[in-house]
Amino acid sequence: MQTLPLKINSRVATVVGSSTLAITAKAKELKSKGIDVVNFAAGEPDFDTPPAIKAAAIRAIENGFTKYTPSTGTVELRKAIAAKFKRDNQLEYSPSQIVVSCGAKHSIYNIIQVLADEGEEVLLPSPYWVSYPEMVKLAGATINILPTSAKTHFKITASQLSKNITDKTKLLILNSPSNPTGMLYSKNELELIAEVCVKNGIFVISDEIYEKLIYDTDQYTSFASLGKEVYDLTITVNGVSKAYSMTGWRIGYAAGPEEIMGYVNKLQDHSTSNPASISQMAALQALNEPEEIIIEMREEFKRRRDLITSAFDRIPEVSYIKPEGAFYLFCDVSKLGVSERIAKQILDDVNVAVISGDSFGAPGFIRLSFATSRERIQEGTRRIAEWIKQHSTK
Ligand code: PMP
Ligand code: GLU
Repeated sequence: MQTLPLKINSRVATVVGSSTLAITAKAKELKSKGIDVVNFAAGEPDFDTPPAIKAAAIRAIENGFTKYTPSTGTVELRKAIAAKFKRDNQLEYSPSQIVVSCGAKHSIYNIIQVLADEGEEVLLPSPYWVSYPEMVKLAGATINILPTSAKTHFKITASQLSKNITDKTKLLILNSPSNPTGMLYSKNELELIAEVCVKNGIFVISDEIYEKLIYDTDQYTSFASLGKEVYDLTITVNGVSKAYSMTGWRIGYAAGPEEIMGYVNKLQDHSTSNPASISQMAALQALNEPEEIIIEMREEFKRRRDLITSAFDRIPEVSYIKPEGAFYLFCDVSKLGVSERIAKQILDDVNVAVISGDSFGAPGFIRLSFATSRERIQEGTRRIAEWIKQHSTK
């Protein structure tokens, strides 16, 4: 018989649950109880998946496309992904360099497990997306945080990167546009970072999941496109969750050097096998849709960004940098007190769900997702402003 206390695998035992998922679930639960919650926690578009994409999935079911596919995804889907990379990112990937997984989260997880090992370091710019450090811990590697601040628009610099490289450094995780800050690296900034990576032989995961959601430019630079040497060190991650409002379908993908992707393939063979066949058909449809299907949603996100930032402009106690991409506003609330407590109180007192910056390695901040209607943004910001008024005069 198992003796107590239960001994958990030492890597899993250190993992912290996902606060983004937990708070989103809590907000949904309160809503289902009839409480009028404004949900600024959810990191997912609120739009329905476009009808043509849903229709493709229904056709897949009706046509009996309901069996295992190759573990890495169907050849048709990988060809469509290769075409997307070429069209949008000037990147040449062959289908054999591409692995489709159960969401970009799964893609990133796989790559970290394949590349990062005990005794090796992974460089992680902070603020970071909640799941990165946990994935690194699960691989048994060490996390080396590169802190950033509003001063550098929450972006690392090449010299900061250089100074933090040791003989154990294996991998850098880049996310542009960023969750949670919404910051976008320029081509020039990426070139300087790429130079350091090439010089030191550092692999890079370029998480480009918010690529299609940028608001002030149509220039997006994919890290791997910066040259042959960078290409050979980069694994590019993207997916359909955010661009096509398909979070529940669970399709993400990664492309990189064939040898690395071969190990990702093996890992996936023995864990999930292929992502759902039906979702793959939906993703294929999405990638073959005209760009207009994305543009409409992006334009609406831009209007929401402008609305939420103008509301916060009227609250002098908090500051922010206008997000250039993604759908998050990252606010400095340090003048008001401890961010975890503020996030909790805003939910308890005025039923507005936000995520404390602590989960992103940035205490003193809160993250607000503006992937909700303009009407809810108006209501939520009104409640927050009132809450702050009451609490900052006490
Ligand atoms: N990367 C970042 C930065 C994200 O915010 C998300 C959203 N959860 C993901 C990856 C994963 O997206 P998904 O698994 O839904 O494709
Ligand atoms: N990426 C989203 C977020 O940060 C969804 C939740 C998650 O997967 O963490 O809120």
